[in-house]
Amino acid sequence: MAGLKNPDGEKVAGMAYGCPVACEYCVVTNVESRSELWREDDGAPSINKAVTIVNPPLDRANLETLNRFYSMSPELFRGDVVGFCANSDPFWPRHRRELEHFLTKIAPETKIVTCVTKWNVPDRMLDRLAKVPNFRLVVSITGLDEIEGTSTEDRLSVLERAKERGIETYPLIHPYIAGMSDLSFLPRLKKIGYGQVDVKGLRYDPSMDSWMPPEVAAQYRQYGNDETLIDDGWRDALVAAGLELQGLKKWYMEEMGDNGPHLSPEDAAERVARVLEMVHITSSDSDQAVIAAAVERRL
Ligand code: SF4
Repeated sequence: MAGLKNPDGEKVAGMAYGCPVACEYCVVTNVESRSELWREDDGAPSINKAVTIVNPPLDRANLETLNRFYSMSPELFRGDVVGFCANSDPFWPRHRRELEHFLTKIAPETKIVTCVTKWNVPDRMLDRLAKVPNFRLVVSITGLDEIEGTSTEDRLSVLERAKERGIETYPLIHPYIAGMSDLSFLPRLKKIGYGQVDVKGLRYDPSMDSWMPPEVAAQYRQYGNDETLIDDGWRDALVAAGLELQGLKKWYMEEMGDNGPHLSPEDAAERVARVLEMVHITSSDSDQAVIAAAVERRL
């Protein structure tokens, strides 16, 4: 495992903030404009057009944020699609108590709950997740072993072991970096039993020049800070492996199916308004679009 990183990108051990996966491209721990967001309001939930995310406080010495986490009413999230931990990896053992609170108290209020991980999730945790009927697992697999603190092999193992336990799981290639991502794992993904994946691009930041080959940086620099998905052959690689491209949001919608609870428009709007009092909006869409999607999910 790679060393921990603080929000300034400095690798240290035993620090209060950060994520042990230590992806070089991480906008949470590395990119100053984004890391400020998390550092200033450690543990505040976040929201985008697909999901509301409950975030465990990273600084466990800060009792105020810990108390705030545990005093959030689970009913606020009734009828929503709710994720756990956008500010680190959800299965970092440091968060195990907050994860258990999420699975025990918040999950029953929601249509589905989800975690996106790059962690080599142990069998014991997968066994626990298999007991939460509305839990959905997303495994981020990128073919970028050189710049991440986990391996493609470990993530294929999680995808395989999750499937063995009947956990509904989705592979997500995020970020795909043209010229760096090694997609040779795609046939294995298919063999394990996955038929669909989502592929998302990279939000370039000049700080990435320190590890990115110059020719790769040059192709992203022209797009500024917009998330950019360059097709240098990945679509053909998906087809060759027999995999279909499908957005994660669509998968969540399908997995939601007719799951309840279904709220009235008034009740949904009232709960979303209360959630908005404490969340970061992390979406390139307008705030109005994020709010409308949050109400819609609860109906
Ligand atoms: S796993 Fe996520 S939070 Fe952790 S370093 Fe990688 S991108 Fe950042």
